[in-house]
Amino acid sequence: MPHPALPPLRDVIAAHGLQASKALGQNFLLDEQLLDRIAAIPGSLDGARVYEVGPGPGGLTRALLRAGARVVAVERDRRCLPALAELDAAFPNQLTVVEGDAMGIDAQALAGDGAHVVANLPYNVGTALLVGWLSASWKPWWASLTLMFQQEVAERIVAPPDSDHYGRLAVLSQWRSTPRIAMKVHRSAFTPPPKVMSAVVHLTPDDAPEGVAFRQLEKLTAAAFGQRRKMLRQSLKGLPGGLAALEAAGIDSQRRAETLSVAEFVAVARVLSG
Ligand code: SAM
Repeated sequence: MPHPALPPLRDVIAAHGLQASKALGQNFLLDEQLLDRIAAIPGSLDGARVYEVGPGPGGLTRALLRAGARVVAVERDRRCLPALAELDAAFPNQLTVVEGDAMGIDAQALAGDGAHVVANLPYNVGTALLVGWLSASWKPWWASLTLMFQQEVAERIVAPPDSDHYGRLAVLSQWRSTPRIAMKVHRSAFTPPPKVMSAVVHLTPDDAPEGVAFRQLEKLTAAAFGQRRKMLRQSLKGLPGGLAALEAAGIDSQRRAETLSVAEFVAVARVLSG
């Protein structure tokens, strides 16, 4: 498919005066080959719907549009809107830009069921958005999540039990979906470069275990990992019904949170949800 010629992203940034704002977590990706590789992570997007958070000057957006996606993009920084309007003109009927704060927006209503979420997220809101998407009623409205994180956060999402990074985020990400690190991205790929390395996580939903409420699993993991070095009999003291649920699930209260598998957390949360 022939693609319209677009100016280099560096020129777009200069033409629209888009100096990166630290407060908005702006670290732009300008390498179009890298952006095409990120846009390929969810699989073919030809004719698919994509929800993008924080398009900025539109680097990832143009890669998604080139892949044939219909994109709904939410951007908080209105300085970026003229640059995004140029993309809309180059890919007619493929792009909808919404000015607003992704934290307060109903993404499902905007993007529709079955959309893929793809985003180079602002680091300050990335984890909160992820937990919001993971808390959707299941199976979720989104078909997959492809999200850039600081590498340390990406490792917390995919961590196995008994590893340094295993914690609440791993359990919430793994109990009814499968996350993987799809790509590591060097800090030098960003303008300006952030202090740390980044990684793209790809996450697809699985069938949810029966009889478990997200809220209970969230409370359980918050209590259990709140004092991760302590035995569960200590860390779950403040959680109503926590110790009884542990016993009912047949889990030794002398264990520490990081030794429990995701399935064991699910078993305890099922008792708490009952
Ligand atoms: N997607 C672009 C890229 O890859 O070059 C920009 C990524 S930059 C890391 C994050 C973008 O998210 C910025 O454009 C920023 O203005 C935007 N942003 C920050 N907070 C936001 C929020 N709460 N809702 C929507 N967009 C936000």
